[in-house]
Amino acid sequence: MIIRAKNLGFCFGVKRSLAFTEKNYPEPIYTFGELIHNSRIVESLKNKGIVAIDDISEADGGTVIIRSHGAPVEVLGLAKERGLNVVDATCPFVTKIRNIVAEKYAEGYKIAIFGMANHPEVVGINSICDYTAFVFDETFPEELYEESKVCIVAQTTSSAEKFKNIINKIEKDRLKTVEIFDTICYTTKERQAEAEELSKKCDVILVIGDSNSSNTRKLKYICERNCKTFLVKSANDLKNIQIKVGEKIGIVAGASTPTESITEVIHYMESNYTDAKNEEFLQAVDAVETNGKLVLREGKRMKVKVTYADEKGITVNFGMKIDGRISAEEATLDGSYNPADYPQGTELDVILLSAKAEDGVYPFSKKQVDKIKEGDKVVDSIRNGEEFALVVDRDTKGGLLGKIGTYTVFIPASQIKERYIHDLKPYIGKTLRLTCLEIDDAKRRIVASQKVILEAERKEKEEIFWTNVVPGVVVSGKVKSISKFGAFVSVDGVDCLVHITDISWTKFKSIEDILKVGKKYEFAVLKADREKGKVSLGYKQLQKHPFDVAIENHPVGSTFVGKITSLMPFGAFVEVEPGVEGLVHVSEASNTYVKNINDIFKVGDEIEVKVLAVDSSEKKITLSAKACLPEVPEEAHKTERKDKTRAPKKNDVQKEEAEWSENAGNNPFADLLKDIEVKK
Ligand code: SF4
Repeated sequence: MIIRAKNLGFCFGVKRSLAFTEKNYPEPIYTFGELIHNSRIVESLKNKGIVAIDDISEADGGTVIIRSHGAPVEVLGLAKERGLNVVDATCPFVTKIRNIVAEKYAEGYKIAIFGMANHPEVVGINSICDYTAFVFDETFPEELYEESKVCIVAQTTSSAEKFKNIINKIEKDRLKTVEIFDTICYTTKERQAEAEELSKKCDVILVIGDSNSSNTRKLKYICERNCKTFLVKSANDLKNIQIKVGEKIGIVAGASTPTESITEVIHYMESNYTDAKNEEFLQAVDAVETNGKLVLREGKRMKVKVTYADEKGITVNFGMKIDGRISAEEATLDGSYNPADYPQGTELDVILLSAKAEDGVYPFSKKQVDKIKEGDKVVDSIRNGEEFALVVDRDTKGGLLGKIGTYTVFIPASQIKERYIHDLKPYIGKTLRLTCLEIDDAKRRIVASQKVILEAERKEKEEIFWTNVVPGVVVSGKVKSISKFGAFVSVDGVDCLVHITDISWTKFKSIEDILKVGKKYEFAVLKADREKGKVSLGYKQLQKHPFDVAIENHPVGSTFVGKITSLMPFGAFVEVEPGVEGLVHVSEASNTYVKNINDIFKVGDEIEVKVLAVDSSEKKITLSAKACLPEVPEEAHKTERKDKTRAPKKNDVQKEEAEWSENAGNNPFADLLKDIEVKK
């Protein structure tokens, strides 16, 4: 019996880096180091003209692809200096570690990396902190207890169990400040957990992959503690391995193992170490009884020989005196029937369409057998865990059923979605995306799951989400719903909140006036807390502040007509733009003496004003109405001075201003007003 791990084949980061090699870049194309740790892939890239170099000076112009492990910073610098087109295929999970190290190193932390000092990923990370990191893969270095601030990260492909044990043993009270980041990537953790589980229930584990690959070696290490374990690169390596027929064999593979290697190994194992030959099926297709008596039933698969073929179909014989007939429509899958392709005596694999002969002739179909054979080919391709599509035929107790070739596919109700599905009927006729969990060749039965695919996709999306969604970045999200305290926005399927205070710089009546449910907008990430699963977004942070709009539209020296919004003893506030007001001080209200501002203005008046000054740091705009009025001769001023009964005293105005300020707690201009100097 062969049991395959659910996670086989390339991981997300490897697939992503290989996708870069498919693009059109300026030639020649190089990879910095081997793109992935697998000689088969390295060789196939070489055949495409993509060469691995270890020294950037070997590149003669063109493009250099940085592999998923990343590269030292000086290498990136040198590549740019040499004018190379640098394509960065560093896995986002590695980039995340590099960012943590850059930030903590700048904050004065000593960096400690759990991993292998000479692994390219670790070398690249170490370059970020000028090669000052402590790299360890056994015990926590004693010297680090001398440091005041320590930041610990882990190589993405490290052993999760070992990292946990080492971290648990750290004497935290001996360290003043320590920050620990578990940066082992999710696919590594999943594969290691599966390897552990599988190796406990199997007699033998085959770890498929390259011995150069760090994550593959870790899988071997985990499995060999529980059972006989072999690391094999391809089917060739299996010839020297001793496995007894009937032993339970588990298959796991490293993140850089190509599908071809996995398929090869599984095929070899099935043909040499299992008794899964479909004897039952072979007997079922044998239609002719040995005693000469014909036992026919509809749907029986038989071997027949062509007697003759014409435009309408093929007449066949199946060892008895009675003939059979395959109509032209039932001859081929693609409808390309040509009688010349069926010379007399050709043996055909057919299915009996009816057990009742019409005019002494039995109807057969070759097309249906071809369809079954095609289906069986699909079965071969899905053995290694590749995704396949299936139309559900019907429901049964506890799940759904469909057919691929001669195999019946069963999808348990618990494996359709990420939750248990009770009502199976709506799935009949629907196409599911499946991965095979078990194949029983003897019973022609496959157990498959869509849940595994959906779960893996969700986890991958979540990992990418939390890696990329950090404070300061801009994300695009769809408004899902609106509540009284804000808007819920879906970003890559994760619900985030835009608090009501982060929606607009200006007052608004309802959130719906700004954000519409179902529409997509861009937002700034304000906070992202992975542990609590909470993300705060801001909409107003990406909009221009109204003060900036106001000073852009009304620069110093310009004039405009604005509405008076409020009057104070020391002056009048005039609206410059919605939500932004400027102050016309009483001394700038008129070209003649103003005893009381209420004598010349009232709230709601529209007056022409000139922008005298702007203070961006304090967000203040100083206006003048006087500057827009004709100058009054000096004589008139003298007369006015004589006429005035009593000019408002500085103390009176200050008193009123203070009273106003106390009552102006909610006024956004309270700060502005308290700084205004009252002139006599
Ligand atoms: S093993 Fe993890 S970190 Fe490495 S390439 Fe794959 S997904 Fe990225």
